[in-house]
Amino acid sequence: MLEIRSITKRHGAQTALDGISLTVAEGAYLSLLGPSGSGKSTLLRVIAGFDTPDEGQVTLDGRPLTGIPAHERGIGFVSQGFALFPHLSVFDNVAFGLRYHMRKPVRDGSEVRRRVLETLEMVGLAPYAQRQIQQLSGGQKQRVALARTLVVKPRLCLLDEPLGALDANLRQRMTLELRRIHSALGITFFHVTGNEMEALAMGDRVVVLDAGRILQTDTPDVVYNKPNSTAVVRFLNRYNLFAGRNDGRGGIATAAGTIAAPRSGEQRQGADYVDFCIRIDKIQVQLEGEAVGQSQAALPATYITSEFSGAIITHLFRLTDDRVVEVEDHLSHRRPAEYAAGQRYNLVWPRDEGLVFPVSAAVIEAAIRVAA
Ligand code: ADP
Ligand code: MG
Repeated sequence: MLEIRSITKRHGAQTALDGISLTVAEGAYLSLLGPSGSGKSTLLRVIAGFDTPDEGQVTLDGRPLTGIPAHERGIGFVSQGFALFPHLSVFDNVAFGLRYHMRKPVRDGSEVRRRVLETLEMVGLAPYAQRQIQQLSGGQKQRVALARTLVVKPRLCLLDEPLGALDANLRQRMTLELRRIHSALGITFFHVTGNEMEALAMGDRVVVLDAGRILQTDTPDVVYNKPNSTAVVRFLNRYNLFAGRNDGRGGIATAAGTIAAPRSGEQRQGADYVDFCIRIDKIQVQLEGEAVGQSQAALPATYITSEFSGAIITHLFRLTDDRVVEVEDHLSHRRPAEYAAGQRYNLVWPRDEGLVFPVSAAVIEAAIRVAA
């Protein structure tokens, strides 16, 4: 078990990690999601032992790692950009970690051979053992980097944006591969990414990091369906967001009209100012004038256009305040609806599917200062 306790790491005046605490169970697949600069790489470097925290401690199976050099931690690290030896073959790149292991180098050539081939087999690169690195595709280089890390049998494997350099198709394939390799090995994977869909697809647990702090730690299902704050909602890229004010009568006044608030979660609705969020796939499109039920919320909108991406259709609508919102539809659900450009519709959703987060007075004050 990996335990991260109150880790703070500063770079000069900049606080890269601000009191991070996290427990990762043995054999888990953890995703760490955060925007660029949020401290993801720094956290991995602290765990691996390449960076020393200013405060806090990391323990692995109860053993404090403080003062233990990186090469003695039994932690593998696949860094951003792979850092392979371009002049060596695939085999020699993977063998390198074994032959030159700081603690226990493997000198027996036949053992090196056996372990390298076994690992290449696992990552699907056995036929490429004698290839030069320059002759490989991005996805194959990624597999070499992974094999080089896994060949020494680490207890914990840290992956820093491992799919970041790959195109969308390959990314999809490699996510499945990584999951397969993880279950075959049974070791703990700690996977850092800036891509929300990747984080949700990969992890048994997802940690959301922002500005060196953890915003939410939960299963992908909970993070996706019940993000705990406006910040997490923004990272998910799957919600339409509205600045609103509670009208005291069960409605939220926004620039695009009043929205029927969810009836659950009243504790959050005591706040005067709120962020209202509705996921893009919860919205249905109705003809203007069609009845809206008590259990539904609605906003009038004008249809603009639709974008197709595989089986997913994103319809764009303009609200009365000129803002553009997204409505997601799926080809497998039903025949794709056709809307008339410039025509008015109602965007409708079950009102209890809306999420409401109080906006603190400090945020509003800051907005007023900017505007003034
Ligand atoms: P991420 O991997 O999420 O993009 P990083 O962990 O690389 O973020 O960086 C977190 C913050 O710390 C950033 O603001 C970055 O500029 C700063 N930072 C990281 N490494 C250094 C360093 N060696 N010196 C100074 N600032 C750094
Ligand atoms: Mg990084």
